[in-house]
This record gives sequence, C-alpha cells and structure tokens, in this order.
Amino acid sequence: MSEPVAAGVLETETQILAALDRFLVREVEPHVMALEDADEYPGDIVEGMKELGLFGCVISEEHGGLGLPATTYVRIVERICETWMSLSGVFNTHLLMAWIVQTFGTAEQKATWLPKFASGEMRGGLALTEPGCGTDLQAIRTRAVRDGTDYVVNGTKTWITNGYHGDCVALLVKTDPGAEPRHRGISLFLAQKGKGFTASRKLRKLGYRGVDTAELVFDDFRIPQDRLIGENEGLGLKQALGALELGRINVAARGVGVARRALDLAVDYARQRHTFGKPIADHQAIQIKLAEMSTRLEASRLLTRSAAAAFDSGERCDMEAGMAKLHATETALFNATESMRIHGAYGYSKEFEIERLYRDAPLLVIGEGTNELQRIVIARQLVARQPD
Ligand SMILES: Cc1cc2nc3c(=O)[nH]c(=O)nc-3n(C[C@H](O)[C@H](O)[C@H](O)COP(=O)(O)OP(=O)(O)OC[C@H]3O[C@@H](n4cnc5c(N)ncnc54)[C@H](O)[C@@H]3O)c2cc1C
Repeated sequence: MSEPVAAGVLETETQILAALDRFLVREVEPHVMALEDADEYPGDIVEGMKELGLFGCVISEEHGGLGLPATTYVRIVERICETWMSLSGVFNTHLLMAWIVQTFGTAEQKATWLPKFASGEMRGGLALTEPGCGTDLQAIRTRAVRDGTDYVVNGTKTWITNGYHGDCVALLVKTDPGAEPRHRGISLFLAQKGKGFTASRKLRKLGYRGVDTAELVFDDFRIPQDRLIGENEGLGLKQALGALELGRINVAARGVGVARRALDLAVDYARQRHTFGKPIADHQAIQIKLAEMSTRLEASRLLTRSAAAAFDSGERCDMEAGMAKLHATETALFNATESMRIHGAYGYSKEFEIERLYRDAPLLVIGEGTNELQRIVIARQLVARQPD
C-alpha cells in the first residue's frame, strides 16, 4: 500500500514544482529588479501565487489547502528564494498563522478561517515581536484585558511581515501579567484589522524589499473571545513556539535557495571573467571559494530536507530545525559574500543580482529566532536527549 501513496506524493510534488518553475520564469523573474528597487508590493505576483495555491500549501485539503508535506514545502521555498526571497515572506508567515489555527484552533475557528487563508482571500502573519523584545518573548507588554464577551487589546508590535498589506495576524499578548512562570500569562488571538488595530508604519529595510514589514498599533482594540486560539488562556507561547519549528525549517529552505543562487551566479561569472589570460575559475583562490560554497550548500540542503522529514513524521524536531536554520542561513550569508567578492566591482553594482542577495541574506540569521538563539536551542536539546 505504501508505494503507490509515495509515488502519488512524488507525482504531485513534481507537477507543483514544474508549475512553480514556469510561473517564476514567466511572471516573476522579469519584474524582480524593478519591484525590488522601488520597494513595491508585488500585487500581480501575489494574484498568481493565489492561483498556484501557495497560500494553502500546508493547510489540509479538508480545509481547502493543498495539504503538502514539509518535504515538498521546503522545495517550493527553495525555488522561490532562488528567484526572489521577498516572495517567500508573503506566504510563509501567513502559513505559520494558518498552521497555528489548524493545529490549536477550535473546530469553528478552523472552519471559519482556514478556507479563506488557503485561497489567499485573507492573508496575514505572525505578530510576536515588540519594540522592547524579540528573542525574550515572555517580556511582551501588549495586554489583552477581558471585558464581557470581548478582550480589549493595547500595545505595539513591530517588524511584522505582511502587517501592512495583510488582513489579520496571530497576535501574542499578555492576558495575565502577574503569572508565574511568565508563559502561563501569554495567549494568542487571531486579530483581524478594524477599529483600534492599525498598521501605523511600513519599515524601511536593507533588503527583503517589496514584501511589507510594519509596526502595528493596538489602541483599545476590541476582540471577541472566540478569537482566542484554542479556548484557553495561557497557551499562546507554546502555540507560537510550535509554529516556529516549521518557521525555522522554512527559513532554512530560504537559506538554501539564496545560497544556491549566489553559487550559480559565482560559477557563471567565474567562467566568463578573464584575468591574466584565463577565466578566473581557473585560479586556485577562486576554486577554493567555489568548493567551500558548494560543500556548505549541499550540507545545508541535506540538513533542511532531514529536518522537514522529521517534522512530517510528527517527531519533536526543534534541534533538527535549529541545526538546519543555523547552517543554511550562515551558508546563505557566506555564499552571498563570497559570490559578491568573486564578482569584483560588479558585485557592488546595482545592475547585478548578487548585490540583492548580499542585502537579503543577513535577515536569515536574525529572523525566526537569531542564530545565537538557535545554538542555545540545539545545545539544550542535545543535553536533554542524552541518555543517562
Ligand atoms: C525583516 C524582518 C522581518 C521580521 N518579521 C517578523 C514577523 O513577521 N513577526 C515577528 O514577530 N517578528 C518579526 N521579525 C522580528 C525578529 O523575529 C526579531 O528581530 C528577532 O527575533 C530578534 O529579536 P530582536 O531584534 O528584538 O533582538 P534581541 O532579542 O534584542 O537580540 C539582540 C541580540 O542579542 C542576542 N541575544 C538575545 N538573547 C540572547 C541570549 N539569551 N543569549 C545570547 N544572545 C542573545 C540576539 O541573538 C541578538 O544578537 C522580523 C525582523 C526583521 C528584520
């Protein structure tokens, strides 16, 4: 029985990736430079992404999604990031919000929200970070106070991807600031824009342009109690951290995509550019760079696929996701830098693609938990899993 199922999954994956490749070549590649330069939201491309079903990739078929496993999802993210990393932001944090509803939401929440998320009719992201804290999420100050059948929310979130163009966010708030341990006082709500919830500012960034990153202000924002994810207060941090496991695998896949593109550009350029009567690819100093870049890329790819497979099997995989995220994103940064150097002065030119990768890559070592934090997660799990 298992073979036909596996073959079916592979066939679906091959078809999806082929359709995605056609879309990227025809609808995305020709426009990336201009959209990125203008920091313009890729509205037309987003429409195409809806048609491809990308906003429902990991949402179950029962709720209108494609129900893809993480092993296929990472291949999709890799391909997109080889073309333009910003596009991954448009649907990846959206999918984390959806994953939270799918995994922890009530039957009613799933039935109401997931089909709209899957079609892309409603899009959003994850609002965890605040001006005063990102890594230490237990220090958040955004407060939700119960008032009849509503909660009243006050506070500010920042660096929220899709905060400006999105319709809603999974919002992390304090419901009990005095709780000990602190995580018991933290809850997650599905917050839809309306009176009292505004995107106050679109943030200007080094890279990752086109996709919006915003500051969100909640000013006596009333949210009905049935928007509390699950039904109980105090579970929000656990729910958010659960989503970050998939989030880190997706960021690792972004790293693989960026690292691969940087390497491909370096190889092409090294074959074309001549110094001292031969292509620079024939100089040993350049060969050493290419060998290092390609080896790190292959290790990143394998770590990412392996973390995705662990996620699909339902195992706890924070260590695997952390390792993949750490290695793949450091590789993206390394490869982008080395490729830029191989390009010489042209690597510093706005007219060459490598310049964009060099600006995009640093985000990956910060977002979805910094790489300093990943090392802590990996080490803790390593020790915890060691048999006595
Ligand atoms: C473009 C962009 C998009 C983003 N999108 C989102 C989004 O959609 N939603 C969202 O909620 N957030 C988002 N973020 C925020 C991101 O998740 C945070 O920036 C990240 O978690 C780090 O938090 P921080 O910036 O507050 O750094 P801090 O937590 O202040 O950390 C500062 C430095 O201290 C280090 N550090 C902190 N604690 C420790 C420790 N215990 N041990 C060792 N080192 C430590 C960190 O690694 C870092 O180097 C985005 C950020 C960017 C730049």
